[in-house]
Amino acid sequence: MEHKNFKNIEKVCYGRGSFSMMEQILAERRNGGFFLFVVDHFFKGKELEKRLPAAAGDLVHFIDVDPHEPTTEQIDALRDETMQAKGIPAGVIGIGGGSIMDIAKAVSLMFTNDGSSTQYQGLNLIQKPGIYHLGVPTISGTGAEVSMTAVLTGPEKKLGLKCDWTVFNQVILDPELIASVPRERWFYTGMDTYIHCIESENGSLNNAFSHAYAEQSLKLCRDIFLGDEAGQTAANDDKLMVASLMGGLSLTYSEVGVCHALSYGLSKILHEKHCYANCVAFQHLEDYYPEGVKEFKTMLQKHDIKLPQGLSKAWSDETITKMAQVAFNLTHMWRHAIGEDWQTKLTLEDIEALFRRM
Ligand code: NAD
Ligand code: ZN
Repeated sequence: MEHKNFKNIEKVCYGRGSFSMMEQILAERRNGGFFLFVVDHFFKGKELEKRLPAAAGDLVHFIDVDPHEPTTEQIDALRDETMQAKGIPAGVIGIGGGSIMDIAKAVSLMFTNDGSSTQYQGLNLIQKPGIYHLGVPTISGTGAEVSMTAVLTGPEKKLGLKCDWTVFNQVILDPELIASVPRERWFYTGMDTYIHCIESENGSLNNAFSHAYAEQSLKLCRDIFLGDEAGQTAANDDKLMVASLMGGLSLTYSEVGVCHALSYGLSKILHEKHCYANCVAFQHLEDYYPEGVKEFKTMLQKHDIKLPQGLSKAWSDETITKMAQVAFNLTHMWRHAIGEDWQTKLTLEDIEALFRRM
């Protein structure tokens, strides 16, 4: 059996107000050079902009991540522009959600690897370690703060730059930064963590190590979304940041499953956002995750979140087949969720039927 051997984040700074530690953390890394900050444009003109520890000569880019998910073209352009203006930075700092963190991870690798980021979409294709990179999540759930991938959409594929060097050198987890996340986004993104744990737990790759992280992350999710004090409170934000990180670690040492396979189909073909697509799919997976889906529905109710029903009525047979093919090709997820012999238990038509439930 092949054992997973993953690199974790080198340093983690956690706690309310820990954002202020950045100046000190960066001072040790500056070496007379400059830093490149990539920041979610939500923070433009907000208080956080004034708190950025950017010195004269540092470059600060505010990026709107809503028009599209990070692209290879965007990463190459950011790298080329920076190199032309000032050379290679001492480090890259990403402040935002999964999109911004992936931009920071990817560009840090592209300062030292020649050519276009399209050449490196896949596992261990990157040739050299990137430059120092620091991540600051401002919305919690995807686990992008801890994962070894930077997901990019290229001309041919949507696939991560995945290797040990992708992982952040440092993250700063300051729960104050997620307070402003709109309620529905908070719910969908938080549910990504919940689903990571349910899928990691229910499959052949689950083990004591991944289980320990999932168990704790699930406990936190239940407090946040179901407990007596459920909701978007400061105390729950403290927990959600930790839950996201632990959920990410759990799936790293196990695997995601049926929901993520279907969700990738929705994202690839219909361009639905990852966390929302997961929720759309998960509500119909009671055959695979009976307890998880039941609990998920209670959470939906508690937070008065209404997911769309009957979406598939508007989808052509061709669209459904395309989405099912994307899902079917994620063989590692099915193997984990259903077993080595999954192909004898599940056909493309069965996956199409799951999409037709949506
Ligand atoms: P995101 O980065 O796409 O941001 C979603 C929205 O939230 C944006 O409108 C943003 O402006 C807003 N936002 C962020 N922080 C906010 C705050 N504090 N207050 C108010 N608004 C705020 O969100 P995401 O769901 O974290 O990331 C999705 C992206 O992550 C996708 O591109 C997906 O491909 C990628 N992803 C990566 C991994 C990984 O392991 N690398 C895993 C899952 C998803
Ligand atoms: Zn996910």
